[in-house]
Amino acid sequence: MRDTAGGPRVLLRRLRELMADALDPQKRLDKIVREIAQNMVAEVCSLYVLRADSILELYATEGLNPDAVHLAQLRLGQGLVGTIAASARPLNLSDAQKHPAFAYLPETGEEIYHSFLGVPVLRAGRTLGVLVVQNRTMRHYREDEVEALETVAMVIAEMIATGDLARLTRPGIELDLSRPVSMTGLPFNEGVGLGHVVLHEPRIVVTALFNEDSDEELVRLETALDSLRLSIDDMLSRRDVAFEGEHRAVLEAYRMFANDRGWVRRLQEAINNGLTAEAAVEKVQSDMRARMMHMTDPYLRERMSDFDDLANRLLRQLMGRGPDALAEILPKDAIIVARSMGAAELLDYPRQKLRGLVLEEGAPTSHIVIVARAIGLPTVGQVKGAVSMSENGDAIIVDGEDGQVHLRPQADVEEAYAEKVRFRARRQKLYQELRDRPTETRDGVPVDLMMNAGLAVDLPQLAQSGAAGIGLFRTELQFMVAAAFPRVEAQERLYSEVLDAADGKPVTFRTIDIGGDKVLPYFKGAQHEENPALGWRAIRLTLDRPGLLRTQIRALLKAAGGRELRMMLPMVTEVSEVRQAREIIDREVRHLSRFGYLLPTRLKLGAMIEVPALLWQLEELMQAVDFVSVGSNDLFQFVTATDRGNTRIADRFDPLSVPFLRILRQIVRAGDQYGTPVTLCGELAGRPISAMALLGIGFRSISMAPAAIGPVKAMLCELPLSDLSVVMDEALANHSASTDIRALLRDFAQKHNIAL
Ligand code: PEP
Ligand code: MG
Repeated sequence: MRDTAGGPRVLLRRLRELMADALDPQKRLDKIVREIAQNMVAEVCSLYVLRADSILELYATEGLNPDAVHLAQLRLGQGLVGTIAASARPLNLSDAQKHPAFAYLPETGEEIYHSFLGVPVLRAGRTLGVLVVQNRTMRHYREDEVEALETVAMVIAEMIATGDLARLTRPGIELDLSRPVSMTGLPFNEGVGLGHVVLHEPRIVVTALFNEDSDEELVRLETALDSLRLSIDDMLSRRDVAFEGEHRAVLEAYRMFANDRGWVRRLQEAINNGLTAEAAVEKVQSDMRARMMHMTDPYLRERMSDFDDLANRLLRQLMGRGPDALAEILPKDAIIVARSMGAAELLDYPRQKLRGLVLEEGAPTSHIVIVARAIGLPTVGQVKGAVSMSENGDAIIVDGEDGQVHLRPQADVEEAYAEKVRFRARRQKLYQELRDRPTETRDGVPVDLMMNAGLAVDLPQLAQSGAAGIGLFRTELQFMVAAAFPRVEAQERLYSEVLDAADGKPVTFRTIDIGGDKVLPYFKGAQHEENPALGWRAIRLTLDRPGLLRTQIRALLKAAGGRELRMMLPMVTEVSEVRQAREIIDREVRHLSRFGYLLPTRLKLGAMIEVPALLWQLEELMQAVDFVSVGSNDLFQFVTATDRGNTRIADRFDPLSVPFLRILRQIVRAGDQYGTPVTLCGELAGRPISAMALLGIGFRSISMAPAAIGPVKAMLCELPLSDLSVVMDEALANHSASTDIRALLRDFAQKHNIAL
């Protein structure tokens, strides 16, 4: 067996020089294959590139017939080369012609070569081509030779990805890499974004795999680690809205990891073995990922993504891409594509340049999605293969309405979406104009349109949407994006910030509604439940763990010192639960006043109507509370026995139906009878047609996602409410339960020129 001439280190250096030379791309490729053949002491080295039509085309060869270049072709899966491309695995054969998949291409003249080593040209797990070396003799290539060829293939992948070879394609032919691809995922946040791919984890330039001087690399690592630690400390000391409350806990976890000695030691070891600092970070991170892959514990998995996030920050430091540098190189219409990412990382990007977000992972309730929704970014998640299919700078469309992602879209698709975006922009402008008009129906009935919120990043929406206040502040979101229970100080800080931002507008804080689908990975008290929606959740949980409720109430009372405080209890089933909560509140008030704290000027306690049992206690309930709010998401799920998260039955029953609207009207009437204000804060409030139905049955206050306020206000400004009330009363009173209320509402809207 012969030795390779100089090993991968020398070869990589030569390739780096060749890539830097100003050469015609075909000449460069020819020189590269010659260089590889020489270095590996092979008689043949050939490169096949995968085209969009699934054909592998010979792009360059040393040793085979040069006239076959750009002519010799194999289908994906055909012959040895096609097999390697299809399986993305190398083939190492001492007698290639004996392999069952061998296909003889007469134009290449390869029949005289026996041994064959082929490796896939891979980029982020995706095959872009195949690189082959062959020898006349029957030899078996050594393990280190396979590795060397794989490393070289990484360099070639980089060349293909940067578009270097695209210039060599014949007209009408596209490389696989530039093929339009449409992918389907789950819609996580509505809206449509057109823009260009920004890979959240930019790939390491592979030519920087091996270091020249370990000591120098160790110094680079130490410097980068120092600036990383400093930047985390800096973020922690800033009183920026984005880094308060929910993000603080995440950053505190990062600080702990950044000082973890085991992690730093493993990085140093990898450098001492010959890698660059960047490659060391990549290696340690992927070793760790491989080890943690099989873990199912959601808490550990969440920590893993924190660690990934931290390693990425370190890579950016090493590559001179701190958050500021990031802002400069970002296109003005960036669509971030990531496997997964930390919530704080998304906030590193300048918001005005972001148009959308595509995630390979993520769940509707994951931290990153909560933040994306809060900043109004069209988001699609669970898009398998999104990262490996995309390249930085590719055109991309994110459709957060139907969960579609179009990568490198064809002109007609792009035009259709551009029209959709223009239409939305025109509507947005109309809503802006409406913002400062009084919120009242055409016949002059005032209505309160409130917004739902839950994070500090939601607060700017209060002014932007023109909401009359916050009708539902979901306090559990702070708990959901944290790594551990937020301390009383952190809770108080967030609540004061919310009240400051509201500047006198009413804010209704709902006490933590955890359990059900809202799990806190760090909460050890929770156990597996057969039916979590009907289980130990919300007020049931907090009454059983009064320490949790007491802490939150204390934070709320302190934050609201000198102003009005509105608190609301989720998932109340019996009026007695309100009484128990009130006792806890009263005790806290007495406690704080004993210690001389400034107390709220007024304290109002409300209950959510989400559990049907309350419908038969309305009389007592209305007298026991200061206000009620209908949680129509849960109430509908329990009234119709329809899991709110199950897409299979999502459209089976309509909340705009006689029975459900009769229930809602009954609540409004009970409120009127006892002088108890009634509002509704489920998704129903946010669609113009259902908001119209709610007004028609007597609601005068509803709370919705901030983005829904514009469309709902546009509807109500055109609405002759007294006419609608007559129509609704008649429909609910006299006719059969199968009356099509939705059709009735549409007819009414059409007759009165109301856009729904
Ligand atoms: C509801 O159930 O309608 C509600 C507003 O609460 P959540 O969606 O947070 O359960
Ligand atoms: Mg609810």
